[in-house]
Amino acid sequence: MSTIQQLLKKSTLDKVDAKALLAHLINKHLNWPKSAMISRDTDQLPQPLLEEWVALEKLRAEGHPVAYLIGKKEFFNIELKVAPGVLIPRPETELLVELVIDFVQASGKKLSKILDLGTGSGAIGLALAKNLPNSQVTCVDISAEALKIAQENARLLNLNSVKFIQSNWFDDLATALPVEEYPFDVIVSNPPYIRHDDIHLSQGDLRFEPVSALTDDHDGLMAYRSIFKEAATFLNTDGLILVEHGFDQSKEVCELLQEQNYINIKAHQDLAGIWRAASANRAASVKLG
Ligand code: GLN
Repeated sequence: MSTIQQLLKKSTLDKVDAKALLAHLINKHLNWPKSAMISRDTDQLPQPLLEEWVALEKLRAEGHPVAYLIGKKEFFNIELKVAPGVLIPRPETELLVELVIDFVQASGKKLSKILDLGTGSGAIGLALAKNLPNSQVTCVDISAEALKIAQENARLLNLNSVKFIQSNWFDDLATALPVEEYPFDVIVSNPPYIRHDDIHLSQGDLRFEPVSALTDDHDGLMAYRSIFKEAATFLNTDGLILVEHGFDQSKEVCELLQEQNYINIKAHQDLAGIWRAASANRAASVKLG
């Protein structure tokens, strides 16, 4: 027999993680809301819940991310189902959503066509579809497993007009997309950008995430080279290209945009003050490529 109070007191896990796991379990087993973590913290908990708690506590202690253990993650103003086949959405990626919303609203277009390249759980594309009613969002991923999760998220969020395409960046896009679906007004991406030799890949929660969503197995810039080269073909003349990158990649990513003749290249800081994203426009008069 145990209570919420006793389990939290006894647990060696980080307190925030322990509370998130327990909140999930009381909801799953007892249908209790989060507030019960305080209001019912001295009630006795049922045996099946306690057994699952022991199992989850062990997995978390081994390093399994909380989001995979509870199967969901909040991102921007939506909740996404996540599983080991997709990267867990990060708070810093919300910056991309904000920047796209600002761009689309300022453009005043009746309908904005948006492409999310390497969508994973669908985080960026679905948050945009949810917050920009006058948009047509297409989500692309190379992984069938990721697309299945992203599509389920679209269904759970009632975002039924979002399109999903399996493709390695732009490779299969032209054949899969009807011509009226592009050019896009926005191409946004959070590609794999961790260098192959970065020690973080073998530490902490990252060990449990899909390696192909984290690293290009190279210098961390391969995805930008492919995306920037091809994006011009799919981007409207006044369209926006926007990518997330690593904490030390701002200069290189901006240079890669310049090499491909994009204009209005801008670097953006996340809430932690880290240069985290780069954006640019495609100029009407410039020959790209
Ligand atoms: N932001 C992730 C991390 O550093 C990496 C995600 C990515 O490569 N796109 O953990």
